[in-house]
Amino acid sequence: MKTLTILGATGSIGRQALDVIAAYHPEIRIGFLTTNTNVELLAQQVERFRPYGVAICSEEAYCQFRRSSSFQGPVLCGSEGILAAAAWAENDIVLAAMVGFAGVEPTLAAIERGATIALANKETLVVAGELITERARERGSPILAVDSEHSAILQCIVGENIESVERVILTASGGPFRGLSPHELACVTPEQALQHPTWSMGAKITIDSATLMNKGFEVIEAHWLFGLAAEQIAVLVHPQSIVHSLVEFRDGSVKAQLGVPDMRLPIHYALTYPQRQPTELPRISWQSLSRLDFEQPDVARFPCLRLAYEALVAGGAATAVLNAADEIAVAAYLQRQIAFTTIPHVIEQTLDAIAPSEATSLEALIEYDRLARHTASQIVSQHVQRT
Ligand code: NDP
Ligand code: MG
Repeated sequence: MKTLTILGATGSIGRQALDVIAAYHPEIRIGFLTTNTNVELLAQQVERFRPYGVAICSEEAYCQFRRSSSFQGPVLCGSEGILAAAAWAENDIVLAAMVGFAGVEPTLAAIERGATIALANKETLVVAGELITERARERGSPILAVDSEHSAILQCIVGENIESVERVILTASGGPFRGLSPHELACVTPEQALQHPTWSMGAKITIDSATLMNKGFEVIEAHWLFGLAAEQIAVLVHPQSIVHSLVEFRDGSVKAQLGVPDMRLPIHYALTYPQRQPTELPRISWQSLSRLDFEQPDVARFPCLRLAYEALVAGGAATAVLNAADEIAVAAYLQRQIAFTTIPHVIEQTLDAIAPSEATSLEALIEYDRLARHTASQIVSQHVQRT
């Protein structure tokens, strides 16, 4: 029996993880399930999975759950409640599937307890990659990628020496707007941006996929997970999303991991690593797969990818500022305050205004996050006034 806590159980990854556990992992006991506000779904999950406890970030939602549920286990409240669930001493594995900066501190708390981290929340490494990987090393807390590209790389390098890797190539679907001109891009609506061509995901990552910031975050994630320099991490647009990433070795060989675009497979692999266990998950239909295309990403039309590389090379708190500015810009776009093409402007102007330097402590990163959110919000207001 292993005990697994899911941070963000009601989200896209959290729900799929529970499906995978129900189907293939009778050996897993559920520790805590956490949510921000979605207590209706949490109540259903509690009925079905009988966790040890739950944690609810929103106070209002916590009160609602308390009123309506007869659940007998611990019910924790607020961000302190989420932290306590992450740090619960009986957690063997913590699936970090919250979205954005909010996932950083709970993931760190789980690492401090020495739990294995199944990491979906890539923003954790974008914001605090150095701190997280250093503490994970010191505490002996393995970090296993759930993100499909990084799971692919992990699967390609099992049994290999990381020194023999020349570079990795992350594949990107290119998002729904791959073929649009700059003028067309300026008018795309949140409804259009939320229609991802190959993956069904939460709103924030879906917009990040449309701007290619998601791929930029994944470059930073690959840097911290596999210890690769920025120039060893390339990106290729691959619209079919069948090849999840490639690893080029120093002898000229290339390995790739392929599969249908379905997050349940990388979630399952993180739970069985380094073993493989059978599943009934969908198989590639080779008859209907007539071609696999690869093309260079267009950083002129999608500048977020360039901004992410630049922040990675700049180092220090630059990637924490990048993340905070992106969260503000994406929220403003979803609220129809700014155009799709203004998202990268807000992020670049925030990075220019703050000129971030070294920051390795959690406190310093929290301070940069706060400052960057404030600055990015002001820049959003300036753009709103101009339109
Ligand atoms: P969702 O928005 O679908 O779910 C996020 C989860 O976190 C929900 O349970 C949500 O609660 C909870 N949550 C959000 N904000 C807070 C907060 N402030 N405090 C506590 N809990 C919070 O996101 P996804 O599942 O799509 O993504 C989760 C993470 O995984 C992201 O970092 C994303 O980049 C990464 N990822 C996702 C993939 C996917 O296919 N979806 C693929 C690869 C990586 P509530 O339900 O109440 O909102
Ligand atoms: Mg991914």
